[in-house]
Amino acid sequence: MSCPPAELKKKSDELLFKWWTYLKSPDFEPFVEFSVCLSSFSDFLQNQGLSGLHQLAHQLEQQALTLFDEADQHQMSVDTLNDLCSQIESLGARVTRFIDSNTRPMTQRREAHATETACVLNPTHRIWFISNSASSWQALMSQLAYFGIQAEIHPWQGVPSDAEEPRILLLDTQDMALATACEHIQSLRTRFSASKLLVSSQQVDFNSFKVMLRAGCDFCLAVDTPQSAILARIMELCGNEEEAPYRVLVVEDSLTASKSIQRTLKQSGIESFAVANPADVLNGLRQFEPDLILMDMYMPDCTGVEATRVIRQHAEFLSTPVVYLSGDGDMALQVDALRLGGDHFLTKPFNPVFLNAVVKSKIERYRALRRSMQNDGLTGLFNHRTIKEKLNATLDEAATSGKQFTVAMIDIDEFKNINDRFGHPNGDQVIRSLAWLLKQRLRKTDLVGRYGGEEFLVVLPGSDSNQAFDILDRIRVDFSRIRYPFRAHWFESTFSAGVSHFPGTSNAEALIKEADEMLYDAKLGGRNRVLTVR
Ligand code: GH3
Ligand code: MG
Ligand code: MG
Ligand code: MG
Repeated sequence: MSCPPAELKKKSDELLFKWWTYLKSPDFEPFVEFSVCLSSFSDFLQNQGLSGLHQLAHQLEQQALTLFDEADQHQMSVDTLNDLCSQIESLGARVTRFIDSNTRPMTQRREAHATETACVLNPTHRIWFISNSASSWQALMSQLAYFGIQAEIHPWQGVPSDAEEPRILLLDTQDMALATACEHIQSLRTRFSASKLLVSSQQVDFNSFKVMLRAGCDFCLAVDTPQSAILARIMELCGNEEEAPYRVLVVEDSLTASKSIQRTLKQSGIESFAVANPADVLNGLRQFEPDLILMDMYMPDCTGVEATRVIRQHAEFLSTPVVYLSGDGDMALQVDALRLGGDHFLTKPFNPVFLNAVVKSKIERYRALRRSMQNDGLTGLFNHRTIKEKLNATLDEAATSGKQFTVAMIDIDEFKNINDRFGHPNGDQVIRSLAWLLKQRLRKTDLVGRYGGEEFLVVLPGSDSNQAFDILDRIRVDFSRIRYPFRAHWFESTFSAGVSHFPGTSNAEALIKEADEMLYDAKLGGRNRVLTVR
């Protein structure tokens, strides 16, 4: 389990505590506290990939939200209260069962340490194929093995009950009636709280997908989905990295209001920084680098709209989302604010669960936009421009700290041939495979970008040429062993790489040029090799 059991336990206890507090004094305030805590717990479970537990918490959250009423008439019927009690109990029991079954020691688990200079394997992930037709999944299973993903196949009757939960379950529902498929999905969902549940289905109509999702699966795949697309989906699910906490700049002249907003955000794990005077907003933006601004509408000497107009004069803050907080429902003002580039309006007093949900969804979209501008669509690696910027930033930092690093240029060998013989889509699959292998084998601190068609630029901070050679050469050997299925056979591919070193060479253009020259020599020397500067 990637989620530390102690943290899960703490969060779940916190929720129970809030619920008991509410039971002791069943008023509006403690109910709001409970709901905020529940919403934050539900987000936590989702972020940790604990799919089954998240579905339970989410249902409960939805129900709590329907019970949000006016502060002075808060009252819950005995039936509703009992229903909530039993749901909270069953969620708590599922959490406990999950923690118990996942705290056994795992000897083969490996963690990457920030201090290591050589590159290490990421912890492996596991996937179970639950299918009565082992042969249908054999090719996909052997592809997964190349990227450190351990795959097992189990017939429906033989799913082990005592093993640690795998990251992903893929249920093959071929030849099953829809109702049977749904029963199986429900039963897996109850047994495996953390696993992502994928279902391969012959029934692909709207209603079938709807009921299977409702039964608790996370993704439905049509039975004729190409294996490369299933592989890509699995790699995506295994590669989900933890996101940095969301950051919000609160611009609000009332200290009480801004304290209460910050408290609400903090309960959802959102970091915030408050500015009371609109004149300080630019400094706040530069120092805190928020993902979103919560902007009070009415402040002395300056309205929220005016402050936003000033912010938008600065190119670097053109796309930072702004959500306005306003004391009343003045429609004309709200329209004005939205026209001037505001993203949303919240009227005070706002429902804290709603505030967090709005803030999170805006930040998610903002980050997705940023990612699509910085990353390459085929591989998800940094694109050409971004990897060059990252190289420059590494260089600036190294110039101050004096720390060494290496730069590698990697190019797939005779790639034109691969396209010509096996077709462009298979060529793409080779490019993606190299990207996955690099991502899986390099440290979190290493930087990998797709520099061109089948060329990759890698920056290894803290490494010398020998260390860079060791890791890249290991990746080279493993890459050359990958077999890509083609018709009834398979084909292989290799790459060559050239490596340069800082401070031996001390500017970005020269480092790239030198790595390129080494790469050229590697090609001349017969390809499928790594060459470093002496
Ligand atoms: P060498 O060993 O000398 O590198 O030979 P090569 O055939 O790999 O030569 P080169 O690096 O010049 O060829 C790159 C080829 O990659 C040319 C181009 O058609 C192909 N290519 C570029 N981008 C893509 C892509 O996104 N997908 C696919 N399938 N092919 C691409
Ligand atoms: Mg105000
Ligand atoms: Mg090339
Ligand atoms: Mg090439």
